[in-house]
Amino acid sequence: MADATLQEKLAGLRQRFIDQLPARVAHTREQWAQSQTDSASEARLAPELHRFFHSLKGTGRTLGFERVARLAEQAESLLNQSTPPHDVELRISQLLAQIELEQQRLASVKGQRQALKAIQSVEFTPAPQVLRSKRQRLIYLCDDEPEQVSQLVHHLRCFGHEVVHFAETEAFFNAVLSRRPDAVVMDVHFPQGDTAGTETLTSLNRLTGESLPSIVLSAHGDFHSRLSAVRAGCNGYFTKPVKPLDLMLAIDEVTTPVEEEPLRVLIVDDEPEVAAYHALLLEQAGIIVEQVYHPAEVLGAMASFVPDLLLTDVYMPVCSGEELASIIRQQPEYVGLPIIYLSSETDSRKQLSAMAAGVEAFITKPVEPEELVSAVRLRAERLRLLRSLMTRDSMTGLYNHSTTTDLINKALVQADRDDAEHALVMLDIDHFKAVNDTHGHLAGDQVIITLARLLKSRFRTSDIIGRYGGEEFVLLLKNLDGERAMTLVDELREDFSQVDFHAGSTHFRCTFSAGISAFPLQPSTEALRLAADQALYRAKHQGRNQVVLNREVDDE
Ligand code: GH3
Ligand code: MG
Ligand code: MG
Repeated sequence: MADATLQEKLAGLRQRFIDQLPARVAHTREQWAQSQTDSASEARLAPELHRFFHSLKGTGRTLGFERVARLAEQAESLLNQSTPPHDVELRISQLLAQIELEQQRLASVKGQRQALKAIQSVEFTPAPQVLRSKRQRLIYLCDDEPEQVSQLVHHLRCFGHEVVHFAETEAFFNAVLSRRPDAVVMDVHFPQGDTAGTETLTSLNRLTGESLPSIVLSAHGDFHSRLSAVRAGCNGYFTKPVKPLDLMLAIDEVTTPVEEEPLRVLIVDDEPEVAAYHALLLEQAGIIVEQVYHPAEVLGAMASFVPDLLLTDVYMPVCSGEELASIIRQQPEYVGLPIIYLSSETDSRKQLSAMAAGVEAFITKPVEPEELVSAVRLRAERLRLLRSLMTRDSMTGLYNHSTTTDLINKALVQADRDDAEHALVMLDIDHFKAVNDTHGHLAGDQVIITLARLLKSRFRTSDIIGRYGGEEFVLLLKNLDGERAMTLVDELREDFSQVDFHAGSTHFRCTFSAGISAFPLQPSTEALRLAADQALYRAKHQGRNQVVLNREVDDE
């Protein structure tokens, strides 16, 4: 069933359409009469009349007013004929009258009841949980071995997760029922039985009807122990002693990816109700939508809203969807933007010719909610993937050097307007060459990946986090003054220095140094970078494993 608020919104859209219909019909009636007076008026008014019936057909279908749509369709096809029948004047007038009658019927109580039914028959698959504001996850650790526990709790907290520890299964069981965690790390062996851990998970899953994302720790790696874990629905299995970093990676995998930002779609339609209707369908699926009712406003909306996809009507006043698509395609920065037509045009030849403007798909109104959502998802996600290959570093998933610089430049322009304070951090791993030389390149890579993850988990999605190259990172921490940035980065430094890295049978620790500069004390990207670099140099020079804030005013 569609949820109540959606139904209310749909009902509102339908009501608005019915309320506005008499005025629109009256206006059209006047235009029609005028167009019949002489051939000049006819030529002038023909496109507008055609558009009225065409959009009435589309809107009518979309909002579930099939009778209105069919009447409009008849009028449209009459107007489309190259030699109109001799009684066209009469027939158009009759159709307008029938549309008015239908409007009156719809406005009546009976019509309202039918409308309600039509709305209730619209069904949606539940929106996936794409939005999660924090990267932090709630992890329950159920284990009765103290040394193992303190080490794991420490690492989980370093990565910014909230950890709750249970030394016995019963307390854990009750806690899950009152507050469900994002993931569970479960020891298998407890005093009450060799498989007490997995049994607890099995009964919890049975009771709640849902499978908890879980990772099992066991002293045994034999087949039967593993089988019992698989049967309990566990997603990962580690034999003790577990390496904390491997466990972190596994937790990242079993908890749903929270990195995905919701998709953004710009809808262009000269009919506000139709735009609002499609916006509702997409918003139900967790997509962010902006609506534009006039093609001339599209370019502005593209720049400010930055959509992943454009959904546009084809027949619009001033500029057709086809012309709009060409205008967009002529701008290099929008060459890759997926464009989908959403129109009531059913003539496949016309559809094909409209697609020539470089458009990915043609969807006809009325569209099934699921069809619309999946058409949009598929294309927008493909673009996201391509974009991310171009802008991100493949090893860490952080922004690459050039993208980081671009984003920082843009953020500073905005900060200037908003009078905001930002901090720039340059961060460099200490004696990294020695890590590679002593423990091998793979161990070195592990350190870089870990630091990248730590940065992603500790800072906000709005902050800019980039890998500048090698073992150097750059962060733009937004709306933070230098002092507060200093405190945060220093906490991160402390936590990172406690992480154990494993290479073969040995393990080692790593540190980093950081330099910080502040905007607007340093007024440009270049000045910020230089000042942060000087601070980093000082941090290295003073013995590494420390954070230095550059408080000097830019004297250039
Ligand atoms: P300092 O404390 O002064 O920063 O010393 P350092 O050894 O960290 O600095 P240096 O810049 O001399 O060495 C950086 C090393 O990082 C050299 C390079 O081989 C290594 N490196 C760069 N990129 C990668 C990478 O992707 N993976 C690995 N494993 N090593 C890398
Ligand atoms: Mg270094
Ligand atoms: Mg270096």
